[in-house]
Amino acid sequence: MRKKIVAGNWKMNMTFEEGQKLTSEIVNMFQDEAIQDVTVVLNPPFPHIHPVKKLIGDVPGIYLGSQNCSDKESGAFTGEVSAKILASFGVQYVILGHSERREYFKESNELLEVKVKQALAHGLTPIFCCGESLEIRMAGTHESNVKFQLTQSLFSLSPEDFSKVVIAYEPIWAIGTGKTATSDQAQEMHLALRRHIATKYGKEIAGNTSILYGGSANPGNAKELFSKPDVDGGLIGGASLKSRDFIDIVKSF
Ligand code: PEP
Repeated sequence: MRKKIVAGNWKMNMTFEEGQKLTSEIVNMFQDEAIQDVTVVLNPPFPHIHPVKKLIGDVPGIYLGSQNCSDKESGAFTGEVSAKILASFGVQYVILGHSERREYFKESNELLEVKVKQALAHGLTPIFCCGESLEIRMAGTHESNVKFQLTQSLFSLSPEDFSKVVIAYEPIWAIGTGKTATSDQAQEMHLALRRHIATKYGKEIAGNTSILYGGSANPGNAKELFSKPDVDGGLIGGASLKSRDFIDIVKSF
C-alpha cells in the first residue's frame, strides 16, 4: 500500500513568528482532529528548520522537509546547504526539481539527478517535482515531456533507491495561478507516470510509488483530486500557509 502524503511548500514566505504560529496551529489541529493514515510534511525555508523541528517534536505523522539541497557533499560552496547538514538537523524529506528552481535557478534534469542521489545518500526522501509548461500542454506533448524528466533524473537509481522517492506532478500552468488541473487531467498523467515507472522498475515498485498532485490545490478541490486512484496526495503551495486550509486538505482523502 502506498503512502498518502500531503506536503506543504512554504516557498520564500513566513517570518520566524509567522512560521512558529503556523506550525503550532497545524500540529495542534492534526492532533485534536485525530488525523490518521496521512503523512504530513512541512517544508519551510532553511532558517525555520530547527525551530519547526522542535515544534513538531515526536508527533507521529508529521515530518520535516526542506525545499532544496545542494548537489555537493560539503565544502567551499558559500550559501549552499547540503543533504548531510539537513539530515543532521532532523530533516526527513526534500523537495527537488520544483519548477521555480528549474526556471529561476536553471536546474537541469542532470543536476537534479545528482541532488536526488545526495538526498538519498543521507537518508532524505526526495519529493521529486515534474511537470509541463502551458506551451507543451497545448502542443500535446506533455506526457512524453514529463516522462523524460523522470527518465533523466531518476532512472539511473537502483530499484531500492527508487522505491524511496516520492513524485509530485505539478503542471507549471497550474502553480500559483488558481488554475487547477482537472482531476481527470491529473489522473491521466499520474497513471502515465506510474506505467512509465513500471517499464523500468516493474509493477510492484510502480504500484508502491506515491505520486502527488501540485498546482492550486485547495480545500475546495482536494477531495475530487484525491478521489482519483493514482493521485496519492498533494504538494501544496499557497494553501499551506493557512493552517485551517492546509489541515482541511489533509483531511480530504
Ligand atoms: C507549489 O509551489 O508546489 C504549488 C503547488 O503551489 P500552489 O499550490 O500555490 O499552486
